[in-house]
Parts: sequence; C-alpha cells; structure tokens
Amino acid sequence: MKPVIIAEKPEAANRIYAILSKKWPVEVKAAKGHLMQLWIRGIDSARHISQLPLTEVYWRIPKVCKKILEDIRASVLVATNTIIATDFDREGEVIGYNVYRYVLNPRRYYPLYDVDPGRIRRMYFSALIESEIMYAFQNTEQMNEKLLAQGLGRNLADTLFGLNITKAITIRFKRIYPKLTQAVSLGRVQSPVLVYIRDQIKAGIKVSGPHFFDDRDTAYEYYVEVDGGHYRLDMPEGINVDDDYVEVLDVRKEIREEQQSKPFFNTDEILQVSPLSPEVTMQVLEGLYLKGYATYPRTSSRFVPPSFLNNIIERMRAYDILPEEFSAEYLHPESREQTDKKMAIVLTPEGIDAYANNRLSGREKILATIILERMILALAPPLRIESVYINIRIGDVIHEVLWSENIANPEVCCDTRFIELRPSISPGKYPLVKIAKRQHEKTVFSVLSRDISIVSDKAIVGWMTEKNLGTEATRYHYPALLRERHYITDENLTTLLGEKIAEIIGRIGISVDITREVENRLNSIEKLGDIEDFKEFIVGVTKEYVETLSEISDSELRFICPECGEDLQLANTRYGLIAYCQQCRKFFPV
Ligand SMILES: [Zn+2]
Repeated sequence: MKPVIIAEKPEAANRIYAILSKKWPVEVKAAKGHLMQLWIRGIDSARHISQLPLTEVYWRIPKVCKKILEDIRASVLVATNTIIATDFDREGEVIGYNVYRYVLNPRRYYPLYDVDPGRIRRMYFSALIESEIMYAFQNTEQMNEKLLAQGLGRNLADTLFGLNITKAITIRFKRIYPKLTQAVSLGRVQSPVLVYIRDQIKAGIKVSGPHFFDDRDTAYEYYVEVDGGHYRLDMPEGINVDDDYVEVLDVRKEIREEQQSKPFFNTDEILQVSPLSPEVTMQVLEGLYLKGYATYPRTSSRFVPPSFLNNIIERMRAYDILPEEFSAEYLHPESREQTDKKMAIVLTPEGIDAYANNRLSGREKILATIILERMILALAPPLRIESVYINIRIGDVIHEVLWSENIANPEVCCDTRFIELRPSISPGKYPLVKIAKRQHEKTVFSVLSRDISIVSDKAIVGWMTEKNLGTEATRYHYPALLRERHYITDENLTTLLGEKIAEIIGRIGISVDITREVENRLNSIEKLGDIEDFKEFIVGVTKEYVETLSEISDSELRFICPECGEDLQLANTRYGLIAYCQQCRKFFPV
C-alpha cells in the first residue's frame, strides 16, 4: 500500500516518480490533459435557433479518456491515499478535481461541481526539481477552492458562450449553405481577436499634391574655455547675451542612484521579449519545465521565494555567471512581493547546471539565455551617478548648468553609456565663446504614401495582454487557433470566411469590453458558490447574442464574389471548403 500521485503530463509523472521513489514507496500516474469535457445537454440535437441558448451543463467522458481514468482508478483502489499533482494553475485544478471525482465514484456524467475540494490533497510546486517536489509532497495542502472555482467558471463561460453561439450561427449558415459541413465557431475570446486582426490589415496608396515646410532659426551656443579646451554650456533656449567671459559662482556635487534591476519574467513579458513566436516560446518553455530546468511557465508572478533564490544565486556564482557585487539585496520591488503561491519564470539550479555545461542547444539555449540574462539583471545593484553642477553668471543672467557626469561604480553597469570627460572646474572667471547657428531648412514631402500592415502573432498576443483578454496561460494559442479554423491565413490575413465572421461578430456586438467584463467577473470568483451569479450573467449575455443572430437577414450572411458582387456558392471539395462564382466561373478559397 502506497500513496498514488496524479500528475498532468507523462514527463512530469516520470520526474516526480524519479525524485520521490528514492525515499518513499509511491506510484505516479499521468492524467494526460483534460479527461472530461464540459458539454450542454441537448445542444447536439438543437435544430432551430429559437431553442437556444441551452444552459444545462455537465461533464462527459470522451471514449479515449475512459481507459486512462480506469487505469488511474485501479491504482487508487489499492492505494493508501491520493494526491493531486497536476499543473499549478486553474486548468490543473479542474483536471485534478475531475480525476478525483471519477476515482471516488465512477459515473458517465458529472455536474459542474459537487465534491468539496477541501477533501482533496494537493501538491503545489513551481519546478520539477528535488527540493520543490520533496517539499510539496511532505507539505500537501487542501485543494485551493478559489483557483478551482475560477477554473470551473472559465470552462463554464467558454462552453455556454462558445457552444450556443457556434450552434446558432452554424444553424443560420447551413440553412443558406446546406453543403457547409464544418461548424462555424465563434469563441468568447477568439471573436474580438479576429476583429482586431481584420482591422489591423491595411494596404493602400495615396498620391497627393506637393507640400513642404520652411524652417528658419538662429540658435546661440555658448562654449567656456577651460585648460585650453572648449566645452559647451547647456543654456536655456532663447537666451542671447554678449559677454567675453563667464563667471563660475559655485560648484555643487550630487550623487544619485539609478535603479538597474528588473523583475523576473512572468509569461506575458517573456512572450514579448522572446525572438520566437508566442506559440513556439511556450512549447520550448514547457519543455524546459518538464526537464526540471525551469519553473512553470504559465504564471503572472514575478516572485521567487528566498530559499529558492539563494540556491540559484549560489549556482550562478559557482559558474561565475553572476558579477560579484550582484545580490538578492538589490531585487526589484516587484520580485520581492509575493502575490500568489506561484513563481516567476527562472532557471532552476539544475537548469543552470545544464546551461553552464553546454547541455542545452537550439531554441532551448536561446530562451534559457534570455531567462538567465533577466535573472542576472534582477540582482543588479543601482548605478551610482556623480553629477557636478555649476552656478554661472553671464552678463546679468544667473543659471545653474550640469558640468559633468560620471559613473562611480562602473563594475556593475548593465547598459553601455557614453561619458564626456571634462576637466574639473572651480569658481572664477573663464573666457566665453558665443556661436550663432543660422539654420535655414526646407523639408519637401513625398507626394507618394503607402500604408501596408499585417499583424504578427507577437503583436496579437501583446494586444490581448494590453486589453486583458484571455490569460497568460492561453493567449499565445489564439493566432494558431484562428489559423486552424481557416479564419486567417498563414500570413495572418483574414480569409473570405474570416472576413464574414468578423463582420457578424461586429454585427452582434461581441466586443473587447464584454470579453473583459467576463474576465473581471471571473477574477472576482472566490468560492464555488459564486459560480451561480456568474452563470446567470453569462447566460444573459449569450441570450442577447443569440437573439441578435436570429434577427440578421440572410443577405448579411451570404458570401459575396469579390469581383462581381454576385452571391457565391459553397462546396466541399478534396481541397477543402471552397466558394465559387457562377457568373465569373472562378473559385475562391474560403
Ligand atoms: Zn463573380
């Protein structure tokens, strides 16, 4: 008799087993992702839009998952206890919760939730390394109800909204195009993203009449002579004084500190900084995590717990990767603050070993390098900058100017700087040279202007982050999802179908605002009981959209020939779904 631990991916299960079995008899099983699917009762047999929205949800078990669940259950039946060790995020909580319910009481269908998560033992860890796994195993916790409730809420929103709206629009399309076999999906988050992509695509040329801009100006510059050299004085604009000398009244030194440290990466930031596409970046980070080389990559945290931090600092020092003066003392404020139990994205001590011993290559090496650089920067001391200011008098103008600037601790400087070296100066009179610069410029503008833009995957994910659409765990996936659904091409241009869908999304009013509102309500869910109110809100919104969808006229749903404006016909061919125009006798990819 031994405990059974349920992990998410097989690689994770193997690592957990390798670590724990050295000390304890354990068995580790992999859930291999979602083993249940949230569905709506009656949605498959709905034939008319007036039957929608349907709102009774239940979890069902896809055939292929039944075997995995049974296999896990067989182990649990002879185990002392069960510990859930799925990924540390909302989805991981939902996966673990459902597996637990199955082994407790195998059924074909389950309600959205029933079992009290307080009964479920959970291992929470951010890296698949010995110290983290051992600690999590010896300090199991109750399943986090808030995380679970938010995960269930997200599944609920996506299912109620996605299945009903998709069904409604598919019913409308199929009435016009009986040959259309694929469902036309309209997701909660994907819809505003598609509209954004369409609106970003621009191509146009403009020819205009000539225009130009005249600029005449006289500017004065003042140079002081010190030790035979001439140095510019930074005087306020528009001053015009004629004097042969300048009097330095006094000299003032100032030392200030300039923060250099940056917070450790979270998912959103590394996706923006990575030279790889968001989707590939997440794949590679996931690979590093499963090898135990990096922490869990789906996180909004910037925090690393002190004991973990000490270990990575020690390891970096062992390989001389960290400059001597750098230390935890200088950590960026955002990385000092523990916002939740999760960790920022950093290399583990094992990951630093692998890096330093050249065991990483290709894309893993690229991302590990970016992470490591940020880990070093997170520990960078502030730069100490020494400034010398002089108070000067020219004629009757008294003014304080910056004379020179120097870096007192260049051994920690993390950014290349150019410093003009100037002799020291003391109070007294110095010769002054005034130079008048007469500028007369004419700018002639091009009569031709071209505007072409195609949005990149990275820009799409960046925009979603800015608009708070989706979560750090899911955003990177949307460009690929829209390509998979043939709404956009490989170049991120909207297809005929994508164009039409974007039009309909605009027509029924699925906007960034409503999607963000759902996101905000989701984040305010604290316990399972809060899901009821949330569901009521989602059902209300879905109802409105279905109503608008049923009011749209057939002509608004039709595909139009881009060349002659006639209605296009749809046909399924061995090349996939295509549209053709009987008038022009031309085919168009949908
Ligand atoms: Zn045509």
